[in-house]
Amino acid sequence: MKKALYMNGKWTDASEYAALHSPYQEEFLANIPVATSEQVEEAIQFAINAEQSMRDLTSLEKSKILLQICAQFEDRKEEAAKIIATETAKPMKFALGEIERTIETYRFAAEEAKRLTGELIPMDAAKNGFNKLAYTLYEPIGTVAAITPFNFPQNLVAHKVGPAIAAGNPVILKPASQTPLSALFLAELIHNTDLPKGAFQVITGGGSQIGDHLVLHNAVKMITFTGSPGVGKSIKNKAGLKRVSLELGSNAGCIIDNGVDISAIAKKCVVGAFSNQGQVCISLQRIYIMEDSYKAFIDELIKEVKSLKIGNPLLLDTDISAMINKKETVRAKAWIDEAVNLGATIEYGGEIINDMLQPTVLANVPSHAKISCQEAFAPVVLINKISSVEEGISEINHSIYGLQAGIFTNNITTAFHASKCLHVGGVIINDIPTFRVDQMPYGGVKDSGTGREGIKYALEEMTEMKLVVWNEG
Ligand code: NAP
Repeated sequence: MKKALYMNGKWTDASEYAALHSPYQEEFLANIPVATSEQVEEAIQFAINAEQSMRDLTSLEKSKILLQICAQFEDRKEEAAKIIATETAKPMKFALGEIERTIETYRFAAEEAKRLTGELIPMDAAKNGFNKLAYTLYEPIGTVAAITPFNFPQNLVAHKVGPAIAAGNPVILKPASQTPLSALFLAELIHNTDLPKGAFQVITGGGSQIGDHLVLHNAVKMITFTGSPGVGKSIKNKAGLKRVSLELGSNAGCIIDNGVDISAIAKKCVVGAFSNQGQVCISLQRIYIMEDSYKAFIDELIKEVKSLKIGNPLLLDTDISAMINKKETVRAKAWIDEAVNLGATIEYGGEIINDMLQPTVLANVPSHAKISCQEAFAPVVLINKISSVEEGISEINHSIYGLQAGIFTNNITTAFHASKCLHVGGVIINDIPTFRVDQMPYGGVKDSGTGREGIKYALEEMTEMKLVVWNEG
């Protein structure tokens, strides 16, 4: 099967193609076009041409277009989920969950498209502001380039395409090389909407070539990137004055205080650590638990882990499947081995069986082991004992990352203290750091990125604020 680029409302061939294989059992899926530099340039020109028609859309029209996307996802849920499961090995139950969230995300965008308002400025609060009326407006920023990762190939794309359309911007999508099929499926859906042609395009091919072209081009007004910290930093360094939003990685941690419901929390932690093989930016990677609760907790957690079904992502009862590729699987295993050499113990898993890394639970992991201090992005969780919540806060803050953190406690003072002291973008009290719904502000501090997603917040980043001052004479 040969796929095509989606440019200016047309399916366009390329001169070169790259074979796409599934992560699970490496089946051939399709030949994917590799856009040439000339084609990337063309796509940018088409987007510029679409800027005026996007600006001319009313809020109601933008909202209706976004709802047209929702309706088609509703009709083709299974198909969309199957594409995700096939090209990423995300188990089908999570892929279906991702499509449900994608629909919600576009719906939030449809709602926010109608709510983008400025504010009235009280000009006469200044001595020289007498007889002046002023207000702010949010105008579209212009052409947006969205560069997206493999792990949520529809919902994280929706977090960029949704607000870009709601703001009135053309958007060029460069999906991860492993997930072009989801992006091209989205193009099929958007093709059937009233969005002006050229206002949404999909350019596939290697990240560095296409990425550089988009990042360095003066006509591209914003890069919205979700992916690894290394690539995010290189984009920021090259982007100059262009607006850049970066949603990057993490090694999310969670604190468990004494006196909480260990069994219920263990269930939540298993979901947080192993969903999508731990390839989630807020995957639960580090658990810090009070000494007295440690034994009961680890026993409960391992009981839950043992019940996980490992295998074919297309089966509805599969919980865990292959990681995105063999190289990543071997890298994660090497990090587990390094932790063991540094004194950690494997409480469960730790092996690659049939090319799949088993869900792995480590204990007593030193904080300088890679599996603790770097982003594991694998089905691995570590559990370390702490003697106080304060120690847990300090362990979580001792990280180059800061996306989200969680704390389970029945003590309101402890919860309040943790919410103030944890240096992250979001603190989740009495739930895992992996908790996210799509309208909440979401983003990190430190190497976890800059800017916030969650439609309303991304929408603000994709616009320019304009001030209008009236002299009333
Ligand atoms: P990645 O390797 O950084 O790739 C992300 C995107 O960047 C892909 O489309 C990739 O294209 C492209 N790219 C690669 N090199 C580039 C360059 N030099 N210039 C511009 N673009 C370039 O990340 P990934 O492995 O797909 O995703 C995993 C990472 O994403 C993890 O670190 C995870 O934490 C992070 N993530 C963060 C969030 C969040 O919201 N904070 C959410 C999800 C994932 P190719 O695929 O063609 O290389």
